[in-house]
Amino acid sequence: MRVRARVEGTVQGVGFRPYVYRLASELGCSGHVLNDARGVVVEVEADTKSVERFLARLPAEAPPLARIERVAAESVPVTGETGFAIRASPPGGEPSAAVTADTATCAECLEELFDPADRRHRYPFVNCTNCGPRFTIVRGVPYDRPLTTMAGFTMCPACAAEYENPLDRRFHAQPNACPECGPRARLVGSDAEDAVAAAASALRDGAILAVKGVGGYHRGCRADDEAAVAALRARKHREDKPFALMAPTVLAARALVALGPAEEDLLVSGARPIVLARRRPDAPVAAAVAPGAPELGVMLPYSPLHHLLLADVGAPLVLTSGNVSDEPIAYTDDDALERLAPIADGFLVHDRPIQTRTDDSVVRVVDERPLVLRRSRGYVPDSIGLPVTARRHVLACGAELKSTFCVARGSRAWVGHHIGDLQNYETLRSFVAGVAHFEALFAVKPEVVAHDLHPEYLSTKVALERDGVDLVGVQHHHAHLAACLAEHGETGQALGAIYDGTGYGTDGTVWGGELLRGDLCGFERVGSLFAVRMPGGEAAIRQPWRMACAWTQAAGVEAPAALAARPGWDEVSALARTGLASPLTSSVGRLFDAVAALCGLRSEITYEGQAAIELEAACDAAERGAYAFGPALDARPTVAAVVDDIARGTDAGVIAARFHNALAAATARALLEHGPDTVVLSGGVFANRRLLSRTRALLGEAGVRVLVPERLPPGDGGISYGQAAVAAASA
Ligand SMILES: [Zn+2]
Ligand SMILES: [Zn+2]
Repeated sequence: MRVRARVEGTVQGVGFRPYVYRLASELGCSGHVLNDARGVVVEVEADTKSVERFLARLPAEAPPLARIERVAAESVPVTGETGFAIRASPPGGEPSAAVTADTATCAECLEELFDPADRRHRYPFVNCTNCGPRFTIVRGVPYDRPLTTMAGFTMCPACAAEYENPLDRRFHAQPNACPECGPRARLVGSDAEDAVAAAASALRDGAILAVKGVGGYHRGCRADDEAAVAALRARKHREDKPFALMAPTVLAARALVALGPAEEDLLVSGARPIVLARRRPDAPVAAAVAPGAPELGVMLPYSPLHHLLLADVGAPLVLTSGNVSDEPIAYTDDDALERLAPIADGFLVHDRPIQTRTDDSVVRVVDERPLVLRRSRGYVPDSIGLPVTARRHVLACGAELKSTFCVARGSRAWVGHHIGDLQNYETLRSFVAGVAHFEALFAVKPEVVAHDLHPEYLSTKVALERDGVDLVGVQHHHAHLAACLAEHGETGQALGAIYDGTGYGTDGTVWGGELLRGDLCGFERVGSLFAVRMPGGEAAIRQPWRMACAWTQAAGVEAPAALAARPGWDEVSALARTGLASPLTSSVGRLFDAVAALCGLRSEITYEGQAAIELEAACDAAERGAYAFGPALDARPTVAAVVDDIARGTDAGVIAARFHNALAAATARALLEHGPDTVVLSGGVFANRRLLSRTRALLGEAGVRVLVPERLPPGDGGISYGQAAVAAASA
């Protein structure tokens, strides 16, 4: 018999055709396999038993990077074809979406890396069809060596033979390379033959090095070297933000943080994100790695260069993105040498260019489920399905902080890499270039452009500047709601609690504590946090004490004397009273700020969300008490109770816990009043483990279906996808 099978999903550029070739050959089937615009088409001919065996094994034994979404098989007439062939793709059709995410070095490549007898022993760029750089080296489609940053390297005969052989693990592995023909690492200013060994030796001696990785430069030093870490922190002008760590092995990671099964799965996954987990009290790291933070961000080596470096150093490293402050991660060699020179003692570089800068992804586990806080290297550009089919091609420009963009056509959306805060020329340039790159990679020619309602966001301005497109303005919190619904394939109505720092409301005030009933097409605001003034506008975001002033005034209570004695308190008080230059806000993020400032934990911040993060960190885990919340999410009684507790000398950890418990209970109660079947919890505030976990538990006890973002961030990194879903559903 003869069967034609169409395979859809991520099946191109992942070694699928050679896999089919090997399987068919093993089972004695003749026929052919080819890529086309929709995926892979296979025809196999043999006796019935062999064909059935082939169809059963086809999805079950697929290569590691393949993600099969559908196999449709049909009988076709026997042709008498002999042998099995990998055929060329038919011409025409849309360029295929063959670009996958960068993937951690596979076990087989690792074995070669550390095998003294192998020709790739200690070669920092070993890779194969199952692993290695992808998205970060792609310049265009089709995904073929000339359109990658490997174009300048000509394969030696040995590598070319692997590349041409369908039975080889490196068949059509575009970045295939070896010490003879591929990229080389170099320690700038040193003529060491083994640059990585020389770099490791410098690191062991306390140096701070800039290290070129897969998606950009890191700055690194030994994590247990007090002097080096303190110097790195001082030179980076980043006083408080925790540094990420790279541990040589899972075992070493376990010594740093408490890891559950879900955390370990993420750590060793092909995406290799930074996993935020509870730090061990005896974690062997310098104090300056994460001052006061109860969690550490840990990742494992994901490129051969990192594997060698960590193995040689033999201890965890601080590896923080190589930017000066909030600029994008440095990724070109000239840029890095210029920008990082003042803050690095040396440079471990290589000559494989990075096409697209891609930061490390960051994931936290809540209730044994992943919560992606930053989705970038390892995940981008994997497509995410849309539950509705976009009739026209879509571009969604996202928000402003932690910005991403999204392109979509049909029922697929591609969310871009984390760009950062879209507030300066550098990030804007990176945003615009990223959009153009994705439009080319995924054959999207936007006819509909979705944007935030905030007129001052650069992303909104980019959208408005596009000619000949239909614009769709999407309210910020509706986009959060829609993103979560769409990710879970939900097209019906849900009730969402969307809590974040700032979003432009439809009434011109600053929203951020919203109960929205809606679907992908629209929403109604059924409730919101009691609104108070943001004294001095934006300044209140950087200075949480201003929010403490506004909230105590709204609650009609005296602020703690230490706060009220601050310089500027009276002026800010007057702003809050008169409303001059002080918009109303229903933001839950700002309420967290107020409580953190009242507790004396944080009155000024150096990075977004810091006060809320520290308030969560301060929580006394054993505390079960909760403050009262007024009806309709009125936090004035809550703030009054906080101030009472402070006056009584209650510990800040107890106050923090009671506040979290109160907000979770009030949120669940406010949602349940509306009798929802399905509830969405999203917005950046729900990156808070305690709040999310408790609110979810209370809703679960009431028998409500709870949806929470998993593949995309609950924060503004998920906004672009939500906008795309709204545009697809309504335009
Ligand atoms: Zn490999
Ligand atoms: Zn070679």
